[in-house]
Amino acid sequence: MIPVEQAQKQICAAFRPLPAEQVGLAEALGRVLAEEVTARVSHPPFAVSAMDGYAVRAADVATVPVRLKLVGTAPAGGHYEGRVGPGEAVRILTGGPLPEGADSIVIQENARRDGDSVELTAAAEPGRHIRPQGQDFEAGKPIFRAGTRMTVRDIGLAAAANRPWLKVRRRPRVAILSTGDELSMPGEPLGPAGIVGSNGLALSAFVRACGGEPVDLGIARDDSGVLAEMLAGAAGADLLLTTGGASVGDHDLVQEALQAQGMKLAFWKIAMRPGKPVMFGQLGSTPVLGLPGNPVSALVCSLLFVKPAFAVMEGRAPGGETETAILGSDLKANDQRQDYLRARLGRDAEGKLVAHPMARQDSAMMAFLAQADGLVIRPPHAPAAEAGEIVPVIRFPSDLLGI
Ligand code: AMP
Ligand code: MG
Repeated sequence: MIPVEQAQKQICAAFRPLPAEQVGLAEALGRVLAEEVTARVSHPPFAVSAMDGYAVRAADVATVPVRLKLVGTAPAGGHYEGRVGPGEAVRILTGGPLPEGADSIVIQENARRDGDSVELTAAAEPGRHIRPQGQDFEAGKPIFRAGTRMTVRDIGLAAAANRPWLKVRRRPRVAILSTGDELSMPGEPLGPAGIVGSNGLALSAFVRACGGEPVDLGIARDDSGVLAEMLAGAAGADLLLTTGGASVGDHDLVQEALQAQGMKLAFWKIAMRPGKPVMFGQLGSTPVLGLPGNPVSALVCSLLFVKPAFAVMEGRAPGGETETAILGSDLKANDQRQDYLRARLGRDAEGKLVAHPMARQDSAMMAFLAQADGLVIRPPHAPAAEAGEIVPVIRFPSDLLGI
């Protein structure tokens, strides 16, 4: 058994950043930038008015009321060609370019228009209600770092910066093979000793939520020939995930079948719970992660090992998900395996994170996992802990990933 951190390091070391591809901005949501992105325009591109009102020379409106001559209009998308001279004002609308000579805006609520002139009733200060050129962002300056995952807000910023396409990392392609004689696809009639195979769909969803492209290879029976045939579907994938058949039972043939195909085994068994019988190796150019069959183990191990691998493939730094919380109930001393306890997370009266480990920690119990908000980490040989102690936790992201 190797420690979790060593397994994570070894797994991450087997991946490289994926090549870049260009996508239209409409396709860029959730994609990861392969390079730094600079703005192609400044925003605003020129000084504009933030309000509907009158563009004036502040010096002319130091004492009020004062009457100025109206010499033109500057609507958004329009432009007053002349220069605002002493005693003059230009009608200006929100987004209208500030005319030359003017240095302040008097809002229309403080003005009374009367034919060719306007009476202003509030004093003007230089710069008031003006958005200077480049106040938001400047042409040529960076707006995103390489490795940024594009959010809805980022799409808006990229569009405003006149970037209709972006260079992003190719999505990681992940082949997923479920194994087990007892399994049938959700919706299929169940055999007399059958169970529904949930890992294929859960792992596909996980891969998709991480920004990858799942290729579900289906369910292989516990038979070396069948396994060999179905493993062929993993050719060209950036990662192969298998579930089940990972222990040492007569029917646990996955490792053997993979080695018969030429897989080089890197390690087998991690000192953790759930998920001890995890296997990692390399089949040709494809790293292979053999996950346990128990659904909770499969998903927790995906969070701990697949997500960091994705970070490497996306050119981002893996890790950084661990934080601390106040333990909500007592815990027994731990054994030699690092525990990841499913837990409800909440806030105390001061707003501090509190973790309540769930009463049952069976790695076959999907309902508890679905109700959990995160995992409490119990290092190997951790002594008994009392409610109120500070413990490390991983919070499930609140987005789609949910684990
Ligand atoms: P195994 O590693 O094949 O011994 O599987 C461990 C446990 O996980 C067994 O109880 C299996 O029935 C169960 N299991 C294996 N694969 C799946 C799957 N795809 N979906 C749900 N349960 C599974
Ligand atoms: Mg099995």
